[in-house]
Amino acid sequence: MNIILLGPPGAGKGTQARRLVETRKMMQLSTGDMLREAQSSGSEMGKRVADVIARGELVTDEIVIGLIREKLEGERPEGGFIFDGFPRTLAQADALGELLGEEGMTLDTVVEMRVDDDVLVERVENRAREAAAAGEPVRPDDNAESLRTRLMAYYKQTSPLIGYYHAKGKLQSINGLGQIDEVAERLSGALDG
Ligand code: AMP
Repeated sequence: MNIILLGPPGAGKGTQARRLVETRKMMQLSTGDMLREAQSSGSEMGKRVADVIARGELVTDEIVIGLIREKLEGERPEGGFIFDGFPRTLAQADALGELLGEEGMTLDTVVEMRVDDDVLVERVENRAREAAAAGEPVRPDDNAESLRTRLMAYYKQTSPLIGYYHAKGKLQSINGLGQIDEVAERLSGALDG
């Protein structure tokens, strides 16, 4: 089963994706994680995208589609792929459809995780505070100004995907509020239903 987790920053996509990796032998493909890895490895691409990411804007479609293409051509997970933070634009969504087709795979479902904006701000601030307290690196884009830019990017560039996948009959929406376990149960219901 290949699925997309769709939702604004702080909706809990990464948290839920990591649970599905454990419980369903799926593979999480997070373009955000891949871009952060490129940055910490000091690659040319990593250096080129650093400022864009810190500001909270989107990197080019070409870069993230390239990252995803590489993964889809690689190892095939038993439980399928979880696309987390990709696609974020209509062009990326089209490209994903094509890439899956080329590899003989299909997209099973898209789960939109709905969370109120004020909760998102709170969650992102908590994530930064917890990382700092644990002595872990704080994401440079987990600050109030970048978060505003990231939310705007979500509403302007990514939320049209809700209509796009609805029209394809692939969209499901779940309430992303509440405890991690509660959300995981709603997500499971969407995947198994
Ligand atoms: P995330 O970890 O998913 O919140 O992503 C962190 C940042 O990486 C985003 O704010 C963007 O700057 C960049 N990014 C991640 N995924 C994408 C994508 N699919 N398209 C464009 N930019 C992305």
